[in-house]
Order: sequence, then structure tokens, then C-alpha cells
Amino acid sequence: MSESAPLAGLLAGKKGLIVGVANRNSIAWACARPLAAAGMQLAFTYQGEVMRDRVVKTTAEMGEVPLFDLDVTQDDQIDRLHEGVEQLFGGRLDFLLHSVAYAPATAMANAFIETQRADWATAMDISAYSLVALSRRFAPMMEGGGSIVTMSYYGSQKAVPGYNVMGVAKAALEASVRYLAVDLGPRGVRVNAVSAGAVNTLAARGVAHFRDLMKITGERAPLKRTIEPEEVGRATLFLASDLSSGITGETMYVDAGFNITAG
Ligand code: NAD
Repeated sequence: MSESAPLAGLLAGKKGLIVGVANRNSIAWACARPLAAAGMQLAFTYQGEVMRDRVVKTTAEMGEVPLFDLDVTQDDQIDRLHEGVEQLFGGRLDFLLHSVAYAPATAMANAFIETQRADWATAMDISAYSLVALSRRFAPMMEGGGSIVTMSYYGSQKAVPGYNVMGVAKAALEASVRYLAVDLGPRGVRVNAVSAGAVNTLAARGVAHFRDLMKITGERAPLKRTIEPEEVGRATLFLASDLSSGITGETMYVDAGFNITAG
């Protein structure tokens, strides 16, 4: 399906912030493209100066886009981001994409039972708490009609080999989506997660047995294939738009149906 044709104008005049582009393979980038094609004006974050060039290169096809430095573990950087985006968009934000996760390599390589306290805390902070921190800062700009979307994975529901503490963080993330939806619903802000099937990205390569996971997914999923990142992008566009106006607090699977099967 072409990204632009039937969607042109769907998000005209809307403003969105994309958190989590590292490169062209990032799920956040696969979301940004259809959002922009549908008319949304976008700003992006990058994780520190080392990532800046890569994000500039990735976003080049959209011309010069507004970029903000953000390490989600730093409250002062979240505050600075908020100030910058508020100024840029004149106090209004319609959409926030949170597509960020990290767990230290040791926590992903060893058995789950070996997870150290500090690694647990890091994974939870970056992969789950950051959604709460960002939602709190940006919700006032979204009053009366906004959408927040985060990226999750099936390892929140089942023990997926090698997913380890990240599965625990994704369970916390999905629960946070529900609690945030309750807090922000009366203010007209919806909060949802997309639970994406396996996609070969920088973050995914940190998961042991990732190639096996891709293979098993492709064989077992009802659609008999893995997903394309663009499919996550289009589902995110749906959740960002008024087409999904009655949906909040949900985790929506975009995984070729893998989650409904038994192994
Ligand atoms: P990616 O590596 O392209 O994106 C991860 C992003 O997290 C990067 O942009 C990185 O800079 C950012 N990040 C990490 N720590 C950060 C910090 N402290 N501050 C700010 N940013 C930080 O990989 P991806 O696969 O596109 O991951 C995006 C999201 O999608 C993650 O939440 C991931 O768990 C989720 N997800 C991925 C898959 C998959 O198979 N790739 C499946 C389901 C869900």
C-alpha cells in the first residue's frame, strides 16, 4: 500500500513528537513516514550527540526537521525538550510517539534469574518510566484531543527466551498505558501501545536468539510471515488519528497474528 495516497490530509494541521529514531531501521522512523505523509508536522529527538548525525541522515528525506537532544533518564533534558517543543509548536501537541527501550547487555545475555538490581532499574527507567515522565510533561499541551502511542512486545505476556528483564519492563509499560489512559482520558488524551512483531533493528540485536525468534515467528504466525515495520507505522497512524477516537488503554498487536497461536 502506498504510504501517502489514501491518507493525504488525514493529519493535516496536527503536530507530533517522535521519540526513538536511531536510524532508518528504527520502528519510530517507520511510524514517522506515514504520519508525515498524512500531513502531520513532526519534531524528532536524538539520544546524545553521537546519534545526531544518524538521525539527521535518516530524516533527510523530510528536509530539515526540528531535532531535540534527549536522554530519557534525565529529567532536566525532558524539561528542556518540553520547553523547546512548546515554543516550536506554539503550545499545542497532538501526538507523542514513545519508541524507546534499553536493557544492559548482561541482563539480556544471562539467564533472567541472574538479573542484577542496577540492570533491572535501568531497564525499567528507560523502557517504562520514561513513558510516564514524557506523558506528564506533554499532556498539558494535548488537552482536549491528543494521542500517545508506545511500542511494546509479546514478551510482556509470555516468557520469550532471551527477552528477560525487557519482558518485565514491557509488562510495566503496558500497565502504565492503562493507568495513564485513566488519568488522561478526562482530559481528552488517549494512550495506547502497539505490540509489534519481531523487526530487525539496532535494539532487537541485543536480544539473544533474535534470529531464531524471527524464524519461529514467520513459521507460526497465522499470516506465515514476519511483519514489515511499515505495518507498525500504519497502525500507529490509525492510533494517532481520529479514526481510533474510541480506543484508549489498549495494547494492539501488529504481529501477523503470532500472539494468538500456541507453540
Ligand atoms: P531502535 O534501536 O531503532 O530504537 C530504540 C531507540 O531507543 C533508539 O532510538 C535509542 O536511541 C532509544 N533510546 C535508548 N535508550 C535511550 C535513552 N536513555 N534516552 C533516549 N532514547 C533512548 O530499535 P527499535 O526496535 O525500533 O525499538 C523501538 C521500540 O520498539 C522499543 O520500545 C522496542 O522495545 C520496541 N519493539 C521492538 C521490536 C523489534 O523486534 N525490533 C518489537 C516490538 C517492540
